[in-house]
Amino acid sequence: MFPTTGPDPGSRCEPGRAAVDRWRTAARVLDAVRCAPGLTRVALADELRLSSATTTETVARLRAAGWVEEERAPVSGRGRPTTRLVPAPDGPTVLGLDLRHEDWRLGVAGLDGVPTVVASGRRARACPEEVARAVGARGALALAVSFPAPLADGRVVRSGELDWTTLDLARLTGTGSLPVLQGNDATLAGLAEARSGAAAGVGTALTVLVEVGLGGTLLIDGRPQTGAHGAAGEFGHLPFGDPAVVCACGARGCWGPEVDGYGLARRLGVPAPTDPRTFAATVLDRSDPAAAAAVSGASAALGRGLAGLVNAHDPDVVVLGGLAPRLRGAAFDETYRAGLMSWRRDAPPPVRDAVHGSDAALHGAVALALDEVTSAEGLARAALAAESVPTAGPAARLDALDTEVRRGRRARRNTPEETDHDRTG
Ligand SMILES: [Zn+2]
Repeated sequence: MFPTTGPDPGSRCEPGRAAVDRWRTAARVLDAVRCAPGLTRVALADELRLSSATTTETVARLRAAGWVEEERAPVSGRGRPTTRLVPAPDGPTVLGLDLRHEDWRLGVAGLDGVPTVVASGRRARACPEEVARAVGARGALALAVSFPAPLADGRVVRSGELDWTTLDLARLTGTGSLPVLQGNDATLAGLAEARSGAAAGVGTALTVLVEVGLGGTLLIDGRPQTGAHGAAGEFGHLPFGDPAVVCACGARGCWGPEVDGYGLARRLGVPAPTDPRTFAATVLDRSDPAAAAAVSGASAALGRGLAGLVNAHDPDVVVLGGLAPRLRGAAFDETYRAGLMSWRRDAPPPVRDAVHGSDAALHGAVALALDEVTSAEGLARAALAAESVPTAGPAARLDALDTEVRRGRRARRNTPEETDHDRTG
């Protein structure tokens, strides 16, 4: 679904089938802890139908590998004392690299999946070495890269004015054995909302992200539907727009250029902006009649197209991310409702604002990387690497973590009321 690139397979030890099988229960336990941090051993055993002995042995292995810690759980009623399983604050980490049209950010996250931004800069095309230096020194187990461009078969197939197709992922990881995964930003933003945001626990969710252009994903049981080549979700290139307008993708009449900064500029009669996202945010902040009319036009276009997607996909919930929540208004409500098939209008799917805001793709990237390293294959690979190179074990990885990150993650645990925006902004 999300391609992995990175080290030459010959350069990394691949565990055998039996070794992978030994980690299958551990992978299920980590999945349960990621979904419900703090669940008790008793609840874990019930949920996964594990015997007491298997639970004890598996938790011990995951503690030894540095993934989880146990805390004493409050005794309720006459139940036996038990412990709660939480992500270890100084445990193994993964990296998420969020490449955006105007800047890039590198986040590090542990099993809790909450990224802390540790490096950032402008325009990745101009500074791949700077990105590579930031990635190289982190001692993480995997890197996932979010591209603001369509991907097919693991390649960026169109990149607009920023040539992401020339970004050499191998250079990001140097000569190490770091697995590199990649995904489209809108797809990863949808993944983040399904894991820990506005679409958590939803059966069929439709997420739509407006940044530069428009993208999204259809998620079924939390899994993005990415198509035959991994390129599904390019909703911005549905022909819901003006056929006179040629999109950067080469097609005519695309929907995305109706709702983003380029569309607002066209409606205002000004030249195409260099930074369309910043331009759009500026127009949305204005209150003059010209800006209001331009925003209303984009809002109507967003509602009309969204109704079409709802008619087509029949989601339980719709989630709007990026600039899309700011485009909701009277014009959106009118065209959304008018565009729905009449039988849907009495009970249309709720339209929710995304929880992760502008951090959604970064959250999605670290979720993708964690999926890789906490799978049975990933755990077996890490165990094999630790056996063959003792210094690459958890202790060495911890040494490689800089103190700033440790401090930040400890502080975060102690302030659960803090918002994601505060943490990463
Ligand atoms: Zn297009």
